[in-house]
Amino acid sequence: MALEIRSIKGTQDILPSESYQWQFVERLFLDMAKNYGFSEIRVPVFEDKNLFIRSVGDTTDVVQKEMYTFTDQGGRELALRPEGTAGINRAVIENGILNEALPAKLCYNISCFRAEKPQAGRYRQFHQLGMELFGAHSPAADAEVIAFVDEFFAVLGIQGISLEINSIGCPTCRKEYHKALKEYFSQHKDELCETCLTRLEKNPLRILDCKSPVCREIAKDAPVGLDYLCDDCKTHFEGLKKRLDALNIAYTVNPRIVRGLDYYTKTVFEFVSGDIGAQSTVCGGGRYDGLIRSLGGNDQPGIGYAMGIERLLMTLKAQNIEIPKPPTCDLYIASIGEDASLRAMQLTALLRGEGFFAECDLMDRSVKAQMKYANKIGAKFSMVLGDDELKNNQAAVKNMETGESRPLSLEEEPFLRFFYDAQIEDLSDSVNEMLKSEE
Ligand code: ATP
Ligand code: MG
Repeated sequence: MALEIRSIKGTQDILPSESYQWQFVERLFLDMAKNYGFSEIRVPVFEDKNLFIRSVGDTTDVVQKEMYTFTDQGGRELALRPEGTAGINRAVIENGILNEALPAKLCYNISCFRAEKPQAGRYRQFHQLGMELFGAHSPAADAEVIAFVDEFFAVLGIQGISLEINSIGCPTCRKEYHKALKEYFSQHKDELCETCLTRLEKNPLRILDCKSPVCREIAKDAPVGLDYLCDDCKTHFEGLKKRLDALNIAYTVNPRIVRGLDYYTKTVFEFVSGDIGAQSTVCGGGRYDGLIRSLGGNDQPGIGYAMGIERLLMTLKAQNIEIPKPPTCDLYIASIGEDASLRAMQLTALLRGEGFFAECDLMDRSVKAQMKYANKIGAKFSMVLGDDELKNNQAAVKNMETGESRPLSLEEEPFLRFFYDAQIEDLSDSVNEMLKSEE
């Protein structure tokens, strides 16, 4: 029989053999975020389409070409979220979060949807870990979120990801800059792509983010935003650099970074991996001081970033960084006959209740087949229960690695003690290994 309905182009199944890697980076992210004072927010997968048009910007690729939009049964114009910041800004305003203690520090773990051409590192459903920090004007806030990402990569053992920063100014200095860009690109009107011709009128900064090779080539000699910064933006950018220096975080200033979303002001940054090919930006972010107000909230600044989980895992793989495998089964209890099967279930429940990983037969298989399964799942210990074992309340517990067996009482106290002892031994082994590898 052939599978008739297949998965949609650009989507991926995350299989049990790899989901532990996702869980590991997601947990690490959320745990570390706590130490920085960030709490998780969860927002809907779909929103009013206009939320994204207004915040991401109607001249961006994301809105013009990549958004999954649909009309629902009530005639509402909706969109699957292409990114996280818009929805979180909406939620923050709607729920009065900015009336509480500031700065408000939020983090998230979301799926996003963009109708892009699928290729390595680019999917139609993808996943992001990100942060948003509201209410802080100081470049210290920019430095804090960047420092988090830097530490996150370091804890994962990633090397070769470089930080690039830039400032794209504020509405005040951008006026001058837009004028200069317009002047420059007007000289190349005949060569620009269709989309960029409208951008030239509406938002010339967007031309700098165009993916068409011709526009890219032209953009190379375009005026640089850094040359047009007002005093306030200049001081802010210097303040960020000073703090990154103080934290020993290496960076380069890349005046060509503009980012693909319209809401950014002042600081923009990217973490770029040297190991994963063309789609090399693992993490991108920046400041968005006008966004909250433009969506109808107070005049509060914000800064944030999003990191693509797929690209993060690609980088880990490229660098041969092993993510700890999930723990294997502590005990597999095989059984012969109905009574033994019941006892096996009880003992399994007892172990699970203490936090151990235990399994017993669910397939009514022969003992031989049960032991084959125990081997397959990599159980650390196994035991076989039959009439004799039930009568004596004792069974042989077998170390599956060494093959050694020893008698073990099925009384609760000595039974559990055995597995606690094994756990402690395991732990001290891995600590020793760790210390050895650090020598
Ligand atoms: P790119 O230049 O690669 O298209 P972008 O500027 O569109 O990226 P952002 O909107 O800033 O990306 O999203 C932040 C991060 O999310 C990216 O750095 C990347 O890691 C990830 N990302 C964005 N789009 C995709 C996608 N289609 N598939 C996988 N990951 C993505
Ligand atoms: Mg993109």
